[in-house]
Amino acid sequence: MYAKINSLGLFGLNAFPVGVETQLSRGTPCFDIVGLADMAVKESRERIRAAFRSVGLQFPLARLIVNLTPAGTKKTGSMFDLPITVAIMKAQGLITADTDKCAFIGELTLSGDVHPLNGVLPMVLCAVKEGMEEVFVPAENAFEASAAGNVTVYGVTNISEIITHFSGEKPLTPSEKITISPEDYYIHEDYADVKGQVLAKKALEYAAAGGHNVLMIGPPGSGKSMLAKRLPTILPALTFEESIETTNIHSVAGFTSKENPIVSKRPFRSPHHTISGAGMCGGGQIPRPGEISLAHNGVLFLDELPEFDKRTLDMLRQPLEDNKVTIARAAGSVEYPAFFVLIAAMNPCPCGFFNHPTKKCICPPNAARNYVNRISGPLLDRFDLQVEVSPVEFKSLSSAKKEESSQAIRERVQKAREIQQRRFAGTGISCNARITADIFHEVCPLTQDATDFLENIFDRMGLSARAYDRIVKVARTIADMDGVQVIEKLHISKAVQFRTLDRKYWGN
Ligand SMILES: [Zn+2]
Repeated sequence: MYAKINSLGLFGLNAFPVGVETQLSRGTPCFDIVGLADMAVKESRERIRAAFRSVGLQFPLARLIVNLTPAGTKKTGSMFDLPITVAIMKAQGLITADTDKCAFIGELTLSGDVHPLNGVLPMVLCAVKEGMEEVFVPAENAFEASAAGNVTVYGVTNISEIITHFSGEKPLTPSEKITISPEDYYIHEDYADVKGQVLAKKALEYAAAGGHNVLMIGPPGSGKSMLAKRLPTILPALTFEESIETTNIHSVAGFTSKENPIVSKRPFRSPHHTISGAGMCGGGQIPRPGEISLAHNGVLFLDELPEFDKRTLDMLRQPLEDNKVTIARAAGSVEYPAFFVLIAAMNPCPCGFFNHPTKKCICPPNAARNYVNRISGPLLDRFDLQVEVSPVEFKSLSSAKKEESSQAIRERVQKAREIQQRRFAGTGISCNARITADIFHEVCPLTQDATDFLENIFDRMGLSARAYDRIVKVARTIADMDGVQVIEKLHISKAVQFRTLDRKYWGN
């Protein structure tokens, strides 16, 4: 008896269709799986045999060959347990229904229960693309799978349910469709809670509007983390497409659950400074996404920047240019998207009080210089905006003045983002921070006044060509916030004030 069942495989974020063929024939009883299956797949045999026994089914006493197609693609993982089981049941005649438009994924326990999987959403999206009408997934993953849209999702708890479903004895109930309400996008923190810090808030507003990276320098307790943490509250709400894109990555990493099936808020990731390069950028034998990809469409916050391993920080440079990271492995290379706003914070010296208005720095001479020099020039260059965060004065803390809400700031950000969407339509460029050299002059026209002013500063401050580009890109964002097409002197001067700290702390 022969049967064929549809399933799906996954490598990195790439899901692909897999056919599970079974052939039952007379001969010495055996159970073989062929078709470039790895160890995890081969171990299926033991789980499936035990599962059959546990639910009181007879495992076929025959020659049983399972072939996974296409033969040329490596299959890895435990998601084939369920489709292989269904294929055997079909070959045995336990299921007679038509399953041509059904796909199955799931790992089994020895008791026949269906165990949740990582990466369910990308696999179900692929099933939809392949024209599948029904998917059978682990019950825990059903809600996440339903985000794929046009498909009926059945959550399976135990393999015995498959038989009673197809016999019509006890059909499974399709999973509810996932919906995202405006409340789900809502983030409870607000800039209204942060007193004072006008300049830092402005820098973060520009960052949100143009996708610029920000470096904050200031003593401990000045509120750097509090400021950074609220950045997602002024970014435009995640679109449904962005939500699916980000959920795919979190799903592959195993961070989705029954309670949190989908990423509906802009991610805010803040890895500890002890993180490894693989943890930051992704890695492992079957490469898992790193923090930069988990922060995709959101914010990556690196607190205590000089404490991070220098090699780990240098690994960030390429993804910051490309908006993605490629991890090469013998089994093939995996690409993960990594488009995020980078916010970093640091103390000015090891004790934290260098340049402090009231407290004394207790570090040995040169310690402050050595400390900041742990940040390499090329990395420092990638921060379009640098801002000093001073301790909040008592005056601000005790003031009854109401601070501007995140919503009010977000409305300005949204306006600037819409201008950029129109400007960059069809170019693949996402925001002002990512303007490429070929269109730089076309999209960043300056008034004569602005050109003269910039030239003057350029000579006086001894800026590099790269710094020049960065200033103009930030000025582009500020002009967009004003709804102005040609960049004016005012916009340049506002941008320049966020470019002085490298000279103050890193200069000679
Ligand atoms: Zn110090």
